[in-house]
Amino acid sequence: MESQSNYYISSVNDGNIALHTSLSALEAQQNRAAIAAKLGFSVHKLVSMQQVHQANVHIVDSQDAGKGSQDWDSALPQTDGLVTNVRGLVLLAQGADCPLLLFHDKKMSVIGVAHAGWKGVVAGIAIKMLETMHQAFNCHLEDIEITIAPHAGACCYEVSQDFIPNFSAFPPEVFILRNRKLFLDLDRALVWQLTQNAVKHINLLDICTICSNDYFSFRREKDRAGRFGLFAWL
Ligand SMILES: [Zn+2]
Repeated sequence: MESQSNYYISSVNDGNIALHTSLSALEAQQNRAAIAAKLGFSVHKLVSMQQVHQANVHIVDSQDAGKGSQDWDSALPQTDGLVTNVRGLVLLAQGADCPLLLFHDKKMSVIGVAHAGWKGVVAGIAIKMLETMHQAFNCHLEDIEITIAPHAGACCYEVSQDFIPNFSAFPPEVFILRNRKLFLDLDRALVWQLTQNAVKHINLLDICTICSNDYFSFRREKDRAGRFGLFAWL
């Protein structure tokens, strides 16, 4: 496959792809299979995580193929980031408001995905991804291209005053005050964190899941929210 088209972000049209919510797991299996067929890969090549809003990264090898692809229990436990250099595997991160990140080093042919909600951002999941790519695959940080998928945007992601200390390690500009309301700008937080760590290439898709109807949103839909996916492969 061409290096330009090495990821896919599913939308509400593809349906819910999460196997762990109150929504039908059978339907999610079918939706995953339909996406796999559309993209031209076997669903048994999918590798999926039990995401926990932390900063644990797993290096995926061919033995991981199919883990979590059709059931929740076999998904990689307590993991929010995946990195691989194995062609043919398809890494999956899932979200509904949380930023999903794509990491791609074309030079070293290494790819990764991460689930980076605010807790993960503060815990340093993005930095852990960079460290893993560098240590395991000798990637240079300035060669890694990062794409930030649709997520809760600064237009809608309102937080309370007592939330501010969570981001005490970040510049104050990650918060935006508008009409006496406080909003968190996760794009700004991530861009700051990544550029602090030598990253040069960041693509912001700049789509807010809360005010777009194309993606699932936990804030908008609460317990009825499905999850969309970031699928990535080499
Ligand atoms: Zn919005």
